[in-house]
This record gives sequence, C-alpha cells and structure tokens, in this order.
Amino acid sequence: MTSVPELTVSRSALRSNIAAVAAQIAPSRLMLVVKDDAYRHGLEWTIDAADQVHWFGAYDVVTALRVRALRPDARVFAWALATHDEIGRAIESDVDLGVGTMDYLQRVIDTASRLGLVARVHLKIDTGLHRNGVRPEQWPAFVAAAMQAQRSGVLRVVGAWSHLSEASDADDDESADVFRTATAALRDAGADLEVEHLTASAASWWRPELRGSICRVGAFCYGIRSGDGPQIPGVVPVATLSARAERVGGEGVEVGIGSLHGLPSTLTGQPVATPGGVRSILSIGPHSSVVEGWDGAAVGDRVLIHGPGDQGEADVTALGERIDSIGEEIALRLSPRVRRTVVD
Ligand SMILES: *Cc1c(COP(=O)(O)O)cnc(C)c1O
Repeated sequence: MTSVPELTVSRSALRSNIAAVAAQIAPSRLMLVVKDDAYRHGLEWTIDAADQVHWFGAYDVVTALRVRALRPDARVFAWALATHDEIGRAIESDVDLGVGTMDYLQRVIDTASRLGLVARVHLKIDTGLHRNGVRPEQWPAFVAAAMQAQRSGVLRVVGAWSHLSEASDADDDESADVFRTATAALRDAGADLEVEHLTASAASWWRPELRGSICRVGAFCYGIRSGDGPQIPGVVPVATLSARAERVGGEGVEVGIGSLHGLPSTLTGQPVATPGGVRSILSIGPHSSVVEGWDGAAVGDRVLIHGPGDQGEADVTALGERIDSIGEEIALRLSPRVRRTVVD
C-alpha cells in the first residue's frame, strides 16, 4: 500500500498574504480570485479565511454560486461565458457577470427579462489581449446597447474591466490608455460605475498607476510568485506538497508521489527537502518517485516537494520554470487523490 501525498495549506499564511496584498494596493480594494478551487488550495476554507475580503473573482458561475452560498453579502464576479441556465442562476443569486461580447450581452438581457430581474454586469473592453472583450471600434455600439437595457430596467452596468497582457510595461501602458478612454465613454453614456478593474497580481503589485478601484489578485494571495519574478515581500507560499518515504535502499528512497498525482514526470533532477537535507529526484514513476538517499533515511520520513522553503524546498514557480511553465501549472495539476490538510 502506498501512502497518499499531502498538500498542507496554511490559514495564517493565506490571511497574512491577503493582508500584505491589501496593504500594497490600498486604496484600491482586493478582488480575491478563487477560480480552479482557489488554485487547488480548496475553496471553502479559503473563503472562510478571507473574511476581510468583500470582492471575489470566481471565473465561472458554478464557482460563483459556491462562493455566494458561503458569503451571502459579498460581491462575486464571474466572467467565463455561461450557459442560459447558469446566467439565470447567477442573476437570481446576485452574482456580477463579466460581459465582453454583444452576443453574450444579449443573452444576459434576454435571461434577465425572462426572470423579471436586474442583472449586474461589468463591461469588458479588449485592450489588446484579444481574450473575450469588445474592440474599441465596437465599444460605442456595445455601450449603447447596455445602457438601453439599463434604461429598460433589466440591467445595471456596475463595472468596467479588462485584462493586461503583462508582456511589457509599454504594452500595459497602452492598454491602460485604451481602458481609461473606454471607461470615460461609458460614464459619459450615463453609467454609474461602482468599480473599474484592470490588473492581476503582478501589475497590481508593481504598477500602482494602473490599478483601478479594485484589483483582481489570485496568485500572490496564495504565495505564487511570477515566473522570473522576485519573492514578494510579506507574501509566502500557502501550500506545501509532501510525500512519505515508502522504501529505503537500492537506488535511493522511494517516496509515495508520482506523475499520476500531478507531479510532472519531467521534474527529474529537481531538488526536494528531506530530513537529511536537500536531495535530487532521481526518477518519477506513475505512483512513486525515487529520491537520492540521506543518512538515517527511514520509512515514514517526509519529503517536501515544494513549499515556503523553510527546509530548502523550492517553491511552485521554481518547479514550473523547470518544465518551461509557470507555478500555477504545478499547483493546478494536482490530482484529487492528493490529501489536502488545512492547518493554522
Ligand atoms: C486568473 C485571473 C486573474 C488573477 O490572476 P493572477 O495572476 O493569479 O493574480 C485576474 N483576472 C483574470 C481575468 C483572470 O482570469
């Protein structure tokens, strides 16, 4: 019998990261992004620990409804294209919808009309990323249609938003100009905007001039730094991934985590923290891996695959970079078989 790898997630780390991000971006407010089951850290306890947060970014409506059930008075934002049924449930549950195409706007209007309810929407301008947003040349017609629906009482335009490419500061400056112009046009058309939001983790932290009234931050709140990026002061990894030594001898120590648990098989050579110090992973199989031995190695010893670094283990971003990817890929690919344990 092999043991189950464990993802230990720290409530105090999450809370102090949230406080550090909130302090850094003030007076902008934090929208905590909780998509992908809170970046696989676990949605329920994350929402519970984030009791100071008023805005949550859900991505999809199903996640938004889970947040709503836990936090009846929070603002919850869902921006993935949703089905008619999901749009209806979002409107009934007072979930804010991100809308970035004329077609989707029409579906939201139709659904709200059918239900006799008012949909709260944030209109998305495409500022250059070409990821679901209205191009500047189509913006006036889009705004006109939305404001018409607002006057008919089925819609409230409460926000304007976009997403930055973060390819370069110059690109982002240009995008921010497009965003400001579009937002001004929306206000001129009569929208009484509660919020404007443009930035995610990196730009929210380092580009104060680009922050809107709220910032959508996921990665940094979980302590996942950007690729090539420095450690963020006051922000620590929330999750530690560990596995148990199953067999000692021969090539090295066999530990109970493999590629089917979500550890990329191309991470061979990666240093991990053992009770005897930092050692390399020699091979990664489907169910278990072999790590270089250490003095006094015993069955039951814990090997840290990634974490805050207290024992020399790398963080998820370093692991991601090793496979030419980003920390989020390492965090998100964990299998549901990995046990998650919430600690204080
Ligand atoms: C995931 C996501 C974010 C959060 O990005 P991080 O880099 O994790 O902070 C913000 N906005 C949108 C639209 C997203 O999809």
